[in-house]
Amino acid sequence: MSGPRFEVLIPHDRIQQRVAELGRQISIEYAGRSLVMVGVLKGSFMFLADLIRHIDVPLRIEFIGTKSYEGTTTSGQVQLTKDLDRPIQDEDVLLVEDIIDTGLTLNYLIHLLEQRQPRSLKTIAFLDKPSRRRIEVHGDYVGFTIEDRFVVGYGLDFEQRFRNLRDVCVLAP
Ligand code: 5GP
Repeated sequence: MSGPRFEVLIPHDRIQQRVAELGRQISIEYAGRSLVMVGVLKGSFMFLADLIRHIDVPLRIEFIGTKSYEGTTTSGQVQLTKDLDRPIQDEDVLLVEDIIDTGLTLNYLIHLLEQRQPRSLKTIAFLDKPSRRRIEVHGDYVGFTIEDRFVVGYGLDFEQRFRNLRDVCVLAP
């Protein structure tokens, strides 16, 4: 029996090139400061791990977890599954997302983290699907803007599988 087939949307080399660019840009913009990078579990772990290798300002890593579900109303609901381990008050915080789709997760997390009174809060998303937005929100830094396709690989899953793919792929029908 043959396994699933993938169509490569963004190849590994292109990903690495773009992640390095983003790291350099962040290093310049945060020069002389230090950062708290908050990875949104689980999808951002690979992007975060690669990105920080290109950032040369002092930083610490935190993780936060969410899950989204559709309620009885039309708007999806986001729920916190894991909170930060340490406070972020007076810190320069960079929230690291795998993908902005409807925008509900990012919007929820921005409001949550703003309440903790960081010195600054910016967002970075590896991928952005602007055509799917249900709420007005954007990433301050974005790796790649993509069409409305369901993607896997480079940390992103389908039913918890395929996170280990080196490329961003679309599952072939
Ligand atoms: P939101 O719709 O709240 O912007 O995105 C919520 C989460 O849905 C993302 O952080 C991501 O984990 C997941 N998601 C959205 N689009 C995709 C996609 O194309 N592929 C995968 N694997 N996950 C996605």
